[in-house]
Amino acid sequence: MRKETIAVRAQAERSQNREHAVPLYLTSSFLFENAEQGRALFADEVEGNIYSRFSNPNSSELIDKMAQLENCEDGFAFATGMAAVFSIFGGLLESGDHIVASRSLFGSSHQILTKILPKWGITHTYVDAENYDGWEKAITPNTKMIFIETPSNPALEVIDLEFLGALSKKHNLIFSVDNCFATPFIQTPKDFGADLVIHSATKFIDGQGRVLGGVVVGSKELIKEIRFFARQTGPAISPFNAWILSKSLETLSVRIEKHCANALTIAKKLSENQNLENVKYPFLESHPHFEIAKKQMLMGGGIVTFVIKGGYERAQKFIDALQICSRTANLGDSRTIVTHPASTTHSKLSEAERQAVGIFPGLVRVSVGLEHVDDILEDLKQAILKSEE
Ligand SMILES: *Cc1c(COP(=O)(O)O)cnc(C)c1O
Repeated sequence: MRKETIAVRAQAERSQNREHAVPLYLTSSFLFENAEQGRALFADEVEGNIYSRFSNPNSSELIDKMAQLENCEDGFAFATGMAAVFSIFGGLLESGDHIVASRSLFGSSHQILTKILPKWGITHTYVDAENYDGWEKAITPNTKMIFIETPSNPALEVIDLEFLGALSKKHNLIFSVDNCFATPFIQTPKDFGADLVIHSATKFIDGQGRVLGGVVVGSKELIKEIRFFARQTGPAISPFNAWILSKSLETLSVRIEKHCANALTIAKKLSENQNLENVKYPFLESHPHFEIAKKQMLMGGGIVTFVIKGGYERAQKFIDALQICSRTANLGDSRTIVTHPASTTHSKLSEAERQAVGIFPGLVRVSVGLEHVDDILEDLKQAILKSEE
């Protein structure tokens, strides 16, 4: 089956009621037919649900769909994207291990690498997206993993997956890719050599800003370790959120096409605006990594960024002048969202850290929604004008 069909048709087993749509399994635990079955389930001698911290038909359905969409064997679903990110480190690394990571990362991933993992003696080295010699140089005898985000949040840096897939293989490293901005309908990192693919399902996968969730997919072998870690430490997704996210996957392909079409139009139109600098979108020819984006992505994604001339104050004024677009910190929603990363999502970084990943004081991130593209454009344009007053 093709991806569009998998997203619609891969479903959990029906109960004896023969439901067409998969029901919600709100139960903490599952019955044992007899004492012997309980023993066999706990001993892993037979497969089956025991307790919803371990597995549940709704989370299994979400995992199964995501694994198939990402061309991976197995997976685990988490309460949030950050629980997913943390669990790959927690499940696979130990004290003394080292991670090589792309410098431009989601704010909380950066906090995990710099503030949390060092508590357990796990260190990292950052490499800049364009420094392709830097990746191999950063690898030490203790390096276990390469961790990247492409396109990155919010700098929209696009990193060559094929290059890092080959490098990881050469040095026997686990290549982990946060695929949140692309979704499996734009990019399949596994096909370029990724070992683990991570998602914040909160974003485009939910697509309507209602629930949080996260997913990790990869080989049976790696997921076995991550599942052990997650079952004991408890970051599992709730059955309700898994049910919502699995349902959301049914419409992801059509939503992504529209997000991308709207975003490309907006990126092109805003590029002509004299009051903006550095309008950035992976499928604009002016994007510094356009060639790589074309190689590994089918579409450019739903996020556009730009820098308002005049910096921090102008950016704040621009955001306050918006009349349709939402002022909030989420993304991937049907509603267009405008965010000022320097004062919100990336405010915990130092000024120098922000500069290093292109988060300038005037940077604005637009998560382009599913409204009529002209309404979004008109709102952005009137707010740009008002920011000058
Ligand atoms: C939002 C986001 C996350 C974190 O996901 P949550 O569901 O908010 O925990 C991780 N990576 C990227 C790229 C994100 O945009």
